[in-house]
Amino acid sequence: MSNLSKNKSIRMHIKVNGIVQGVGFRPFIYRIAHKYGLSGWVQNTSGNVAIEIQGSQTNVDSFMNALKNESPPVSRIQGISTEIIPVNNDTGFRIIESKAEEGAYQPISADIATCNQCLAEILDPSDRRYLYPFTNCTNCGPRFTIIKDIPYDRPLTTMQPFKMCDRCQAEYDDPLNRRFHAQPNACPVCGPHLQLTDSKGIAIDCDNILKRAAELILEGNIFAVKGLGGFQFACDATNYDTVAKLRLRKRRPGKPFALMMPDLEEIEKHCLVKDAEKKLLLSAEAPIVLLKKRDDNSEIALNIAENNLYLGVMLPPTPLHHILMRYVAKPLVMTSGNLSEEPICKDNNEALARLNGIADYFILHNRDIYSRYDDSVYLVANKQAHAVRRARGYAPSALVLPFEAKQILACGAEEKNTFCVTRDKYAFLSQHIGDMDNAETLDHYEDTIGLYKHLFRINPEIIAYDLHPEYRATKYALEYAAKNNLKAVGVQHHHAHIVSCMVENNVQTPVIGVAFDGTGYGADDNLWGGEFLLSDYEGFERLAHFEYVPMPGGAAAIRKPYRMALGYIYTLLEAQTDIGSLPILGQIADTELNTLKRQIDLKLNCPLTSSAGRLFDAVSAIIGICGEACYEAQAAIDLEMAATKNDNDAGKETYPFEIDDNNGVSVIRLQNLIKYIIRDVNNNIAVPIIADRFHQTMARIIAETCKLLAEKTKIKTIALSGGVFQNRLLSELAVNILEKDGFTVLTHRILPCNDGGIALGQAVAAHFNK
Ligand SMILES: [Zn+2]
Ligand SMILES: [Zn+2]
Ligand SMILES: [Zn+2]
Repeated sequence: MSNLSKNKSIRMHIKVNGIVQGVGFRPFIYRIAHKYGLSGWVQNTSGNVAIEIQGSQTNVDSFMNALKNESPPVSRIQGISTEIIPVNNDTGFRIIESKAEEGAYQPISADIATCNQCLAEILDPSDRRYLYPFTNCTNCGPRFTIIKDIPYDRPLTTMQPFKMCDRCQAEYDDPLNRRFHAQPNACPVCGPHLQLTDSKGIAIDCDNILKRAAELILEGNIFAVKGLGGFQFACDATNYDTVAKLRLRKRRPGKPFALMMPDLEEIEKHCLVKDAEKKLLLSAEAPIVLLKKRDDNSEIALNIAENNLYLGVMLPPTPLHHILMRYVAKPLVMTSGNLSEEPICKDNNEALARLNGIADYFILHNRDIYSRYDDSVYLVANKQAHAVRRARGYAPSALVLPFEAKQILACGAEEKNTFCVTRDKYAFLSQHIGDMDNAETLDHYEDTIGLYKHLFRINPEIIAYDLHPEYRATKYALEYAAKNNLKAVGVQHHHAHIVSCMVENNVQTPVIGVAFDGTGYGADDNLWGGEFLLSDYEGFERLAHFEYVPMPGGAAAIRKPYRMALGYIYTLLEAQTDIGSLPILGQIADTELNTLKRQIDLKLNCPLTSSAGRLFDAVSAIIGICGEACYEAQAAIDLEMAATKNDNDAGKETYPFEIDDNNGVSVIRLQNLIKYIIRDVNNNIAVPIIADRFHQTMARIIAETCKLLAEKTKIKTIALSGGVFQNRLLSELAVNILEKDGFTVLTHRILPCNDGGIALGQAVAAHFNK
């Protein structure tokens, strides 16, 4: 190209897709256009960011390079299209008014933790935002929780009632300011404000609300704090009695509480923090991270996470939390503001009504939360970060699909529910909704589905649902489909698990899916959960599974693992097996034993299950760890913790098991496994050793079965999914052994392996359903 043509002006129209609004994108464009002396404009539309630039070819090239390589830290560009158009005679570069386009949509940024610059301001006594709890800028602060509609502009957020003061407006209008077009921009003069009240909502007068709150917390009071996406309970995590009081009032007996600590230094006093964990804690998403407790003298109360070797810990995600934590200067419990299993409260009046029996005091404020948003939970296994619960900081970030999807609503499962909507190349998996067993959660679910349909302009043509007829999400799906005359596609629970793992890993060829789970409704009406499925997006073939055992009393056997243990023993072992010597089972009264035995023999209310999760429960009870669970999966978690305590080589042995062929389907037989575990208990082998041997055996079962199926199918890719793989020890053992055997192993990282990730698989399976 000659110099002449390089200097000739060209004009280009550019469309940028992805997370490009509410992340400081227009100011960025403004700055680089100025830097390269280009004229034109930038505009938010409901579908993308539109740009026109005009200048020499060289400068336009430099602009395009900067656009691709220097975009703001929280933006995610997913596509850029360009078109050369006729030059015109405009001068200067402007940000022009946003434009709503019928039917257009775009991904929306999740909420982002306070950035270092804003943190420095709120800690600087000479700054006008000193100790102001609603400080933010284009690089941080609320997004999703305040958005009512797109394009993302202040009038369409819950910041609408707050009129910016002159100084804030000047920042907002100044292209070189960090708060240029920061929609939630605010300061003590013009922005939202805190209020401190007692448990009845009566205001308490004081100069410094968060300082006073910290004093009251340290005196042993329980607080309900209005955070970004809803209320949280806060109390002193080093005070055993206060924690016990919170457990009693919240009706949450044993499940570990999450903690918030002021900084990384404090966290390292109580936990061992690996590099990958540090990165997560300090990330813009700032999730709760499950960290191994230090054995030494941490003063964290023992009833925070009894029997658990891990603590769930996060750093302050907002200025409000930063300021409160500075005044408290010690670890706080920071747990969802709800009664066990109900959704997190989000409105002042709702919180005062629902939480007044739990909280002694309330920290309220006058900015509305538009969508409930729990804290996200992550863990690190095999050196990689894995989602356990996906909400604040992550949802509703879009997953990019390897195909163009129809508009689908997938309704999810019963526990840890999330739903998923798809269109074009995007899947939007909702934030964690929760357990669907109460009316409040169902309302939250319906509201959030409405919000996602609206924000992403989705009008579903297909509804996907789980086969379990009693799931509330299934009932909702079938009613929705019937009312709107839509195609409804039932997707088997474990097939959905495996497909979501395949999609997350961008794998489109068939895999052997290992679904180790609690229970999911099987194609034969039994409860599955220890499954090996030859799976692609469209369907599956069940190649292998654990043998069926009865669950005496159905759901009651989930709450009482000792019942599950009897299910295995009475079905698989000889009648004369002596259980009298076993620690938990030996204490059950003869009358109850006889009733359960009769129930099993007569097959009364004894659904059959092949669940791996139930096998963990049973073993936990047999070896005396947990006979009755006070929260979901407690028996299995306690079993994992026991195994993790074993550093004796004797644990590396495995128990015998058999793989039988039953009309072409492999059945994993457990008689010897159970028999040898009981033998070990009777021989007084230490509990951690038995627990470890059991984990080693489960990994062996996975490896042996996969080898057998790989010979049959010639498939060497294994997808691991299902709630049981939240067990770090099992996951690490299984991945290592499979990789050593030459398999490619797919695991979940972005989505939870539990039922919180299942909706994506439902949507994709429904898309390919013929
Ligand atoms: Zn900031
Ligand atoms: Zn202001
Ligand atoms: Zn499941």
